[in-house]
Amino acid sequence: MNVVFLGPPGAGKGTQAETISKKRNMEHVSTGDLLREAVQGGTATGMKAKKYMEKGLLVPDELVVDIVADRMSKGGHDSSFLLDGFPRNLAQAKALDQTLKGLGNKVDVVFYFAISEDMAVKRLTGRWLCSSCGANYHELYMPPEKAGICDKCGKPLGQRPDDKVETVKKRLKVYREQTAGLIDYYERKGVLKTIDAEQRAELIHESICKTLDTPSKEEIYDRV
Ligand SMILES: [Zn+2]
Repeated sequence: MNVVFLGPPGAGKGTQAETISKKRNMEHVSTGDLLREAVQGGTATGMKAKKYMEKGLLVPDELVVDIVADRMSKGGHDSSFLLDGFPRNLAQAKALDQTLKGLGNKVDVVFYFAISEDMAVKRLTGRWLCSSCGANYHELYMPPEKAGICDKCGKPLGQRPDDKVETVKKRLKVYREQTAGLIDYYERKGVLKTIDAEQRAELIHESICKTLDTPSKEEIYDRV
């Protein structure tokens, strides 16, 4: 079974991908990790990707799809994959389907982690850290006793530039633009499952497991 996790930064995909892939014995595929591996391994596609990465450019869709397909074709027919944050745009999704078809395979379920922009911003901008002692805080999950002050050493807390509201809003906007059309595409294929990503992590986990345990129509026909 091949599963895709789709959703903006801050939706909690990565955490779920780790626990679900371990629990269900699926291979967790993150394109960032795959690209790094391909570059380090010095494969032909890795070398091509390296040229773009060195220049700070986005690796072209076909190349990313090649690297993912390569990994999936090595897995054998019984392997299950969990694609985390891939495909990232419509072109990648179409190329992935094409490639999987060639391997006699397909995407079975796409989980869309739905979250409001406000909540994503709150989660992503809530991190504060103490530059004197290194203690970490989060406004929602681990707030300091006194706002803006370190519990451990009493020094003022700061934020990383990446965690600032403007930067986060820009990242979310880029994500929305890139993934436009992707949700419709999977919905039309009948494989989309929307998850309320504002719930507690345990509830998200449960609802994913429930869907994965429910056989698809095809599987029911297969059994008859
Ligand atoms: Zn401190």
